[in-house]
Amino acid sequence: TQRRLAYSEKMAAVSQLAAGVGHEINNPITYVSANLGFATEILAELSGTSRTADSPPLPPEVAEQLREVSEALREAQDGAQRVARIVRDLRTFAQPGNAAGQLVEIRSIIESALKLASNPLLLRARVFCDFQVEIRVRAPEARLVQVFMNLLVNAAQAIPPGHVEENEVRVTTSLGTEGFIVVEVSDTGQGMPPEVLKRLFEPFFTTKPVGQGTGLGLSICRNVIEGMGGTLTVRSTVGKGSAFRITLPEAGPLGAQFPQDAGAALRG
Ligand code: ADP
Ligand code: MG
Repeated sequence: TQRRLAYSEKMAAVSQLAAGVGHEINNPITYVSANLGFATEILAELSGTSRTADSPPLPPEVAEQLREVSEALREAQDGAQRVARIVRDLRTFAQPGNAAGQLVEIRSIIESALKLASNPLLLRARVFCDFQVEIRVRAPEARLVQVFMNLLVNAAQAIPPGHVEENEVRVTTSLGTEGFIVVEVSDTGQGMPPEVLKRLFEPFFTTKPVGQGTGLGLSICRNVIEGMGGTLTVRSTVGKGSAFRITLPEAGPLGAQFPQDAGAALRG
């Protein structure tokens, strides 16, 4: 459809831009951040650590100015870190989606992602996993971990703080149709209205406050999953929650690589 075409054209253009910008900004932002850290240390020494009980007290206006400079440095450092995070997302986003893969067990991928996302997740909800089947897929491992981590962090962020016991994030795996496996990541968070559902896979689309989201998470997810020959879709109800559904081509049941299984198959 037309929308689909516009989407992939936008993706291609943004990927190219992202690769260029990400590369150009990476170095300067690294030294901006390092120098801010250096300045912060010097300031801390001036206003505190190198002063002893018998040092003459700082004139109040100087002490006040040092506090202001220190606050300004802290804000600058926050900003620099935010830029660094955007650049990191940009660079990941720009990697080709169809990276070479190895055989991996989906369960261990999800477990790695759960570990990485455990801080935001456990603060917001009870987490359940239901691995109905042990399945392997052929995947670029680190990128697939990132897909699940993005989905899990989004799930956590969709749940308002302070209601851990009433909220759930659930991950299930099951067999789909015709050699596909299905993984679902669902949450009981705020859900999404139609205008968000229409746009959530667009690069840079975010409803989160400045500094919290780059809006690249789901477009990275979709890139990676479609690069593997799979699909990523979503259902959501405002006030009830959301469920992201991934299908991936199955690489064969566990154990199929052993010769005795091949023999058994041959004997019928
Ligand atoms: P980001 O998380 O940086 O905003 P994403 O691409 O990961 O970017 O998500 C885009 C938008 O989709 C989010 O800003 C949010 O509005 C919506 N969204 C994604 N996942 C969920 C979810 N589990 N529940 C509710 N809204 C979601
Ligand atoms: Mg996100």
